[in-house]
Amino acid sequence: MKIKENQNLRHFNTFGIDASCRLMVEYESIKDLLSFIKDIRFRNLPHLHIGEGSNLLFLKDYDGVVLRSAIRQTRQLQSDRPDEIRLQVGGGLKWDTLVASTLRHGWYGLENLSLIPGTVGAAAVQNIGAYGAEAGDFIESVTCINLQTGERRTFAHDECHYAYRHSYFKSAEAWGQWAVIYVNLRLSRHFTPNLSYGRLREELEHRSLKPEQVTPQQLRDIIIDIRRSKLPDPRVQGNAGSFFKNPIVGRDVYEKLVKHYERVPHFEVDDTHVKIPAAWLIEQCGWKGKSMGTAAVHDVQPLVLVNLGGAKGRDIAELSEAVRHDVSERFGIDIQPEVNFI
Ligand SMILES: Cc1cc2nc3c(=O)[nH]c(=O)nc-3n(C[C@H](O)[C@H](O)[C@H](O)COP(=O)(O)OP(=O)(O)OC[C@H]3O[C@@H](n4cnc5c(N)ncnc54)[C@H](O)[C@@H]3O)c2cc1C
Repeated sequence: MKIKENQNLRHFNTFGIDASCRLMVEYESIKDLLSFIKDIRFRNLPHLHIGEGSNLLFLKDYDGVVLRSAIRQTRQLQSDRPDEIRLQVGGGLKWDTLVASTLRHGWYGLENLSLIPGTVGAAAVQNIGAYGAEAGDFIESVTCINLQTGERRTFAHDECHYAYRHSYFKSAEAWGQWAVIYVNLRLSRHFTPNLSYGRLREELEHRSLKPEQVTPQQLRDIIIDIRRSKLPDPRVQGNAGSFFKNPIVGRDVYEKLVKHYERVPHFEVDDTHVKIPAAWLIEQCGWKGKSMGTAAVHDVQPLVLVNLGGAKGRDIAELSEAVRHDVSERFGIDIQPEVNFI
C-alpha cells in the first residue's frame, strides 16, 4: 500500500487541474483496503475513490483521502457455455489495456469501447459508452467493498441499474460509498461486429470493407482512428472527454425544433423520446472554438471543454455554466454535465 501526504493531483486528472489532496492511498489488495478503512485517519476524513481522473473536475483542493486501486489482475472464470467467456478483472486495470487484451485472446464484445481513457472500476461506475455499445452490456456483476463498514458485496447486473452514463454507484444513495474491486464480464468467443453507429458503416465503405469481412482488429483500428481525429489528447490539451451528456427530450420538443431548423440531428430512444447531440446545440449557440480566459470549447468537438493552460477548476465550471445557460435560453433544453464536479 502506498500512502502520500499532500499529494498534488495535476497528474491524476486529465484536465490537468492543479489541486491537491490531504492524503493519497493506493491499495494493492482487499486486505490493504480493509486495513486502511479501519485506520483512524481515514475514519475522520472524507474520501474519494478515483481511477485515472479522466472524468473529474477538481473545483478546489480536496481536504480528504483520495483512494486508488492497484488491483489489476484478470482471471478467467468458469462458464457452462462454450461460446462465452467469463472474466474477473481488477478495478485498477486500464480499460483500454483490457480491450486490447480481450481481442488478442479472441474474446469479443468490447471492441467499440476501444481507447476510452480510465480504469475498469470507473467503467462500471460510469457505464462508459461509445459507438453503440455500453460497458453495462457486458457486465455480469461488480464486486465492491463498502468504504465505511468494509462489507464485501457483489452487485448483480440488475442491481447496478445501468442507464445512459449512469449506474447505481452514481446514485445519491450510493455515491462514494463503494470501492469497485472487481468487474465481472461476460464476453463472446464469436465476433459479431456492432455497426449500429452510422459513422462506423461510413468508415467501412470508405475503406472498401464489407461488414461481413471486417475483423475485430480492423474495427478497433477504425474506432481508434475516428477517436484520435476528433478528440483532443489530454496529454496535449487538458480535457475530460464529453463534458455534457446528450439530452434525451420528449418527441414534442424535437418536433418544435424541426419547425425552426432545417436539420436537427437526433437518435431515436423510444416512441416518445429522442436524444439530441449536445454538441449540435452548443455549436448552434456559437460556442464552438470560443474561450473564456484559460478555458475553451474545443474547436473540432464542441462537446469537449479544454484547459488552454493554467485553468482552475472554477474556470472550467464557469465556462460550462455559460454554455448551459445559452443552450437553455435558446432551446429550452437543460444539458447536464457528464463530468463529476469535486
Ligand atoms: C479524451 C477522453 C475521451 C473520453 N471518451 C469517453 C467515451 O467515449 N465514453 C465515455 O463513456 N467516457 C469517455 N470519457 C470519460 C472517461 O474516460 C470515463 O468516464 C472513464 O470511465 C473515467 O475513468 P477514470 O478511471 O478516469 O475515473 P475517474 O474520472 O477517476 O472517476 C470517475 C468516477 O468513477 C468513480 N470511481 C473511479 N474508480 C472507482 C473505483 N474503483 N471504485 C469506485 N468508484 C470509482 C469516481 O469516484 C468518479 O465518480 C473520455 C474521457 C477523455 C479524457
